[in-house]
Amino acid sequence: MIHLKMTTPRGKRALDRIRKIQPFVQASLTITQKRCGNPRCRCFQEGPLHEVALLTWKEEKRTRTLYVPRELRPEVERWVQEGKLLKRLVAEVSQAQREFLVSKKKSRKSNRG
Ligand SMILES: [Zn+2]
Repeated sequence: MIHLKMTTPRGKRALDRIRKIQPFVQASLTITQKRCGNPRCRCFQEGPLHEVALLTWKEEKRTRTLYVPRELRPEVERWVQEGKLLKRLVAEVSQAQREFLVSKKKSRKSNRG
């Protein structure tokens, strides 16, 4: 149960969206060109190279990557977008809660006259 009085209208809007969040991943999807390693493939000497989609993210200061199958690219792209949105919403709620505290401080002062 969220105490909606304990936030601002802006915080409430962000919290409403967070509740509707879909599967997400905090990483980026990059398309890159690669040689497959097969010496008999045409990519070995001339080209074109193979297009590969990779999910990349940082973990303990190291960049990690994971192969994304072609048929899953649109889906993974949605996870990435949702991950970005969630990050923005988390920042938004944090900001709203700070503003909430500031507004309480102000109103207390004005009540005192
Ligand atoms: Zn190849």
